[in-house]
Amino acid sequence: MLLDGKALSDKIKEEIKLKTKNYLIKPTLAVIQIGNDEASNIYIKTKAKACENVGINFIHIKFEEDALEQEIINKIIELNNDNYVNGILIQLPIPKTFDTYRLLNLINKNKDVDGLTDINMGMLFKNYNNLVPCTPLGIMNLLKEYNIDIEGKHAVVVGKSNLVGKPLAMLLLQNGATVTICHSKTKNLSNFTKQADILISAVGKKDLITKDMVKENSIVIDVGMNRVDGKLYGDVDFNNIKDIASYITPVPGGVGPMTVAMLLSNVLKNYEKNL
Ligand code: NAP
Repeated sequence: MLLDGKALSDKIKEEIKLKTKNYLIKPTLAVIQIGNDEASNIYIKTKAKACENVGINFIHIKFEEDALEQEIINKIIELNNDNYVNGILIQLPIPKTFDTYRLLNLINKNKDVDGLTDINMGMLFKNYNNLVPCTPLGIMNLLKEYNIDIEGKHAVVVGKSNLVGKPLAMLLLQNGATVTICHSKTKNLSNFTKQADILISAVGKKDLITKDMVKENSIVIDVGMNRVDGKLYGDVDFNNIKDIASYITPVPGGVGPMTVAMLLSNVLKNYEKNL
């Protein structure tokens, strides 16, 4: 059965829209872009459109690649102090000449709608969730929507990034799963994936997960986004796995739309906190 992230994200966006309609002052998301990364331009456009559709103001602040780091720091401080701004995110990746770690951690924890500051990551680690990274949060909501019980299940997360793999492992752990985290140095990946009741791949390699690596009736979540000849693929060999998995996310239409919906939801969450 398909885990339809598009349908659920539409439902969530509709709920957000209904709420913002009643607000005289609209929630606001500020996105900081540094440089001119091609993929970032597309992601920012998607976020801007999603905000517009649900009644969230969108501010796009763009710095050139040769901007001074201090200018960006000043802007983050200004946005932190602006009561009309409910969410701030830095579109990653940024040019290597900038200190990503330092800049991210300047964002106020309650405006950190990507959930990437040390404080929000640390809170997640200690089960005090404040703002949680959007992709893992989207996956948890998708599992919940389909009444998939996580407690006692063996979840295998392939990929250990700060953006997806690690926070997702924490959320699964919080929900009672036994979690295995695999990565590029894992030997015999299939030994682990074959044991998974819930298998999540967040790597970025087309066809990394093949049929022989998946347990029958397991739940397969594909986070990967790989563009080949202009077409989008996940990490999972969807066509050959869809009939043996009990649930599976498509790409596109699975995790991707949920990520955007969770960003909007995180902006609203902070806005409503301050009502
Ligand atoms: P990332 O930071 O590059 O992390 C990739 C992870 O995969 C790393 O932990 C790496 O291990 C691991 N890895 C690489 N090769 C592997 C292999 N052969 N076997 C097992 N693990 C391997 O990427 P990310 O930001 O987490 O994103 C992962 C994928 O998800 C990308 O395709 C990205 O575009 C996509 N993504 C999708 C969404 C969405 O909304 N759908 C959101 C975010 C990301 P090491 O740590 O050992 O190097």
